Amino acid sequence: MKVEEIKKICVIGAGNMGHQISLCAALAGYKVSCTDISEEMLRKAEDFARTYLPERVAKGKMKQEQAAMALENLSFSSNLEEAAGDADFVIEAAVEKIDIKRKLFADLDRITPSHAILATNSSFIVSSKVADVTKRPEKICNMHFFNPALVMKLVEVVQGSHTSQETAQVTMDLAAKLGKTGVWLKKEIYGFLVNRILAALNHEAMFLADMGIAGPEEIDLAVTNALGHPMGPFRLMDFTGIDLAYYIGMERYQDTHDPGDKPSPILVEKYAKGEYGVKTKKGFYTYD
Ligand code: NAD
Repeated sequence: MKVEEIKKICVIGAGNMGHQISLCAALAGYKVSCTDISEEMLRKAEDFARTYLPERVAKGKMKQEQAAMALENLSFSSNLEEAAGDADFVIEAAVEKIDIKRKLFADLDRITPSHAILATNSSFIVSSKVADVTKRPEKICNMHFFNPALVMKLVEVVQGSHTSQETAQVTMDLAAKLGKTGVWLKKEIYGFLVNRILAALNHEAMFLADMGIAGPEEIDLAVTNALGHPMGPFRLMDFTGIDLAYYIGMERYQDTHDPGDKPSPILVEKYAKGEYGVKTKKGFYTYD
């Protein structure tokens, strides 16, 4: 397949990542069906598009025709068959749980046309962990966007040993069509490039907080002021989701059985209280 043959993209999940990836693709001229098991998340995603696009037009950042085309391109449905049945490319951005992703990939393999590439936006789960439930492992890869997907330029494309050269190339080409900068990882590795580097930083930040050396605010201040990062690790976790950080830690621990990979006490405490960050208006910080 060539990237020019991609006409319709299906995005699975309308959460933090899915709603913005859908909009990116619709703005790039693709027909996009965004699907989620939650009607509420779908409604929120549609409301977001209907608010965001006119705002961009009003600010002079986008032409009226482009906004209208994007809205025309977007559809939302809780019916997976309907959303994915005629997709040429699928970007799975459902919750970071391996069992849910494996079930989704098995369903997608049955539902989508045989030429369709099925990519996962997972932050940590390599695509070989879902490719084996399909009859098209060569068409499975990671296509990892960053949060917020409308703004962040980088996309990591990870080629597993099962992924064909063509699939990785088409996925890189699609990233470029979406206005992103792709980096091609030739082998699978847990956490890819960016999250491995970030995980090392987060691990140390949480260790320091757990030890009572300094609180999240002081640690964020140190990182932003000395290392020049736009936000510190605790503020960033509030944005990306404390629940996500917890799931990632648990998945990793179940994989390695290394106690050092277990989510740290400060993270477990926030997760147990349901304080997931910006999405629940409270995390390490409080939001209006
Ligand atoms: P989220 O919790 O905001 O959204 C996940 C969505 O998946 C929810 O709306 C949920 O209803 C939906 N969902 C659950 N089961 C489903 C199913 N069977 N079918 C369809 N939808 C289903 O999560 P998120 O932060 O958007 O993360 C989604 C994926 O993107 C994860 O794999 C995560 O690792 C990855 N990711 C997240 C970030 C980030 O910063 N949040 C960045 C890059 C990649």
